[in-house]
Amino acid sequence: MQDVLLLNADHAPVRIVDWRRAVILLLEGRAQLVERYPDRVIRSARTVMPWPAVVALMVYARVPHRLRLDRRAVFSRDDWTCQYCGFRARDAERPVHGLLTLDHVVPRARARGGFVPGPTRKVPVTSWENVVACCVPCNRYKGNRTPDEAGMTLIKPPRSPRPDDHVRIALGRAAAPPEWGGYLAAPERFQTSK
Ligand SMILES: [Zn+2]
Repeated sequence: MQDVLLLNADHAPVRIVDWRRAVILLLEGRAQLVERYPDRVIRSARTVMPWPAVVALMVYARVPHRLRLDRRAVFSRDDWTCQYCGFRARDAERPVHGLLTLDHVVPRARARGGFVPGPTRKVPVTSWENVVACCVPCNRYKGNRTPDEAGMTLIKPPRSPRPDDHVRIALGRAAAPPEWGGYLAAPERFQTSK
């Protein structure tokens, strides 16, 4: 069964929902159809309707976006890309396991009272602002040094997760259906200017 991408009223991705949930939202008038899967319909006793691929809420919903910080979530935020050399652990069929590691930008050993200097303020050493996806060779080379000390540059500063990350993390390494393409933010959109 094909899942449905739920968008907020401003068309920002909210999450992936079951098709039944999407149909209920549509029938209740709480969402509108944005994209359909081609050549597929949902039949009930009374009606035939297009199979929704993307639906958007009619009224803007405040979405809490607290995300558990774990390896998979950080790798997804970083698009399965080493944040130092740009190595991507995503395209190939190779398993991700073992290719990427979680790097503390400012090493744990440098934390004072559990905090390290972040891009704009002090942050907990294990926080979204101080961990990045890092390939094994880069991690080995960097060791217990800061990027400056190791002469390494971050591709982009690590940041807190945004609502779009929920969808990308839920997708994991799976490819999104083509119908969702235009509505999932490209990772580039997340790049913060330095
Ligand atoms: Zn690397």
